[in-house]
Amino acid sequence: MAAPPQTVLPSRPGRRLLRRAALWVLLLLCCLAVAALAWRWTENAATEKLRLAAAQRLDGYAVSLENLLSKYDFLPGTLELNKDVIALLQQPDDETLRAEVNAYLEQVNHLSKSTTIYIVNLQGVTQAASNWREPDSFVGDNVAFRPYVRDALRRTPGGFYGVGTTRGEPGYFFAHGIYHNGRMLGVATVKVNIEKLESGWVQGNDKVLLTDAHGVVFLSSEPEWKYRALSPLSPAVLQELEVSRQYFSHALLPLGIRELRKLDNGAAIVATPAPAARLRMLAQTRSLAPRKWQFVYLSDLAPVEASARNAFIFTWLSEALLLMLVLYARQRRRLGRQRQRARLDLQRAYDDLESMVAERTASLQQMTHNLSEENVVRRQAEQKLRQAQSELVQAGKMAVLGQMSAGITHELNQPLTALRTMSDNARVLIERGRVDEAKDNLATISQLVARMGALTGQLRQFARKSDASVRPVAVAGAITAALFLVERRVEQERVNFRMSMQSPDVFALCDTNRLEQVLVNLFTNALDAMADSDPRQLTVSVSRSFQKAMIAVSDTGPGIPEAIRRHLFEPFFTTKPQGQGLGLGLAISEQIIREFGGRLLAEATTTGGARFIIELPIAEQETA
Ligand code: ADP
Repeated sequence: MAAPPQTVLPSRPGRRLLRRAALWVLLLLCCLAVAALAWRWTENAATEKLRLAAAQRLDGYAVSLENLLSKYDFLPGTLELNKDVIALLQQPDDETLRAEVNAYLEQVNHLSKSTTIYIVNLQGVTQAASNWREPDSFVGDNVAFRPYVRDALRRTPGGFYGVGTTRGEPGYFFAHGIYHNGRMLGVATVKVNIEKLESGWVQGNDKVLLTDAHGVVFLSSEPEWKYRALSPLSPAVLQELEVSRQYFSHALLPLGIRELRKLDNGAAIVATPAPAARLRMLAQTRSLAPRKWQFVYLSDLAPVEASARNAFIFTWLSEALLLMLVLYARQRRRLGRQRQRARLDLQRAYDDLESMVAERTASLQQMTHNLSEENVVRRQAEQKLRQAQSELVQAGKMAVLGQMSAGITHELNQPLTALRTMSDNARVLIERGRVDEAKDNLATISQLVARMGALTGQLRQFARKSDASVRPVAVAGAITAALFLVERRVEQERVNFRMSMQSPDVFALCDTNRLEQVLVNLFTNALDAMADSDPRQLTVSVSRSFQKAMIAVSDTGPGIPEAIRRHLFEPFFTTKPQGQGLGLGLAISEQIIREFGGRLLAEATTTGGARFIIELPIAEQETA
């Protein structure tokens, strides 16, 4: 059976990452929304400000237009006050009168700064005009089709903006009936040029239009927009305009301003047609009620859009800054927390270290204390060892002396026997009067006694306990003294003794007594070894090699086999029969020489005997 499909969930760090990414996206969207709000709010506020400013301007323009027009409102009505005007209308064929009225109208036109003033009869035919001198004078023209004339003839004084049918010049026409004794005789008309107002309307990129009741632009800060309709005109209106010839021959095509969005207060956002500089503009209207006209003010929206854009960017940047500040603060807080943790860890480590140091110091102090105690014990042990060694050396010496005792006794007994015999002989010789012979005997006795004294002196000297202090010792002297103690054995055992002094005045750094002890040991061993040898040759040679004094004691005995040589310097190693050797001689000798910084070596001679070499530090002559 196939396993059911499993949903693979992201791991925990993955989920956290996803959550964080989602949070960031949300935050970004929020920031965008706030920035968009700021955009919209600024746009609205700036548009409202623009609208208010435009409304104010429109009010201003309307007032100035009204002021201008109201200045002429009364003028047509006042013309009936002139008797000639009335007379001309009553006698239309009186050319003199016409000339007078023409001159009058010309003068009034000049004074009132209007464009043209003319008088028409009830049939709409111009009887007199201020422009009577001009080739295209209105005099004689029938203007009955003009709505303002029609209105005036119907006793409704009216105003009308239109383009002149003669010259095509635009203007505002005021018309008023001329009455005499309550009877209408004709109509007085004043044409005023209001185009000069346009020049003051242009403000930066803004545009101002003035439209009539049908929405036809007749005044505009934008020349191309003039005589264009805000919205397409109906055929009826077109027909009516055609009849009244209000805009002469202008086609009155639609302007093409599109409304994009309606705002409050009658304002709207519109798209203006090319070639205008701006496409999107704020349109605002103000009606001039009595004349059914409408002012349209188009404000440039560029500053509004720029403000909104700036607000968006500013908000966006502020949010980014705020976000960065928050992140920075968070990072700082995190760093602070990490630092605090690190400080605590450090403090803990420091405390641990301090307690460890204290523990170690205590244990070190304890160790030092123990060491100093051990040191004392060691020193005491060393002292004991030295003492034991010294006693051992002394014991070794005594053992040598013990071994020599038989010979020494014999050495002393012989002269003693000779002394008794010779003293007896001396007494007999004296009794027999042989005094000279007795004298000789006594001299020999004296020599024997002296010799015995020397021997005992040497024995005493050898047996004394030495302090083993190091000083320069004449090697030759030490050899002579040691030889003295074994001399009798050498003679008795017929040993040939030879001394080879390559360096007779060598001094070694050691103790005389100890060196003598070592030499006596080596001599005794050599004599023991040569007991069964023939010939018996004991050779002592002294030399110096570098900073060493070398004393070699060679014999012609059987030599030392390798098996024995390995144990030579071991204590209690002996090959001698019980009672003859202790096996301490060489061990003690080696130790004595080693203590003086030297070496004791054993080797075989070329003749098969044994050779022991003492190496000692040399003492310089000056020191000696
Ligand atoms: P002991 O003389 O009491 O035996 P030593 O320490 O003086 O003790 O000598 C140890 C041994 O070394 C001797 O027993 C002997 O075997 C050997 N020996 C010492 N000197 C010589 C020598 N000159 N020739 C041969 N053997 C020797």
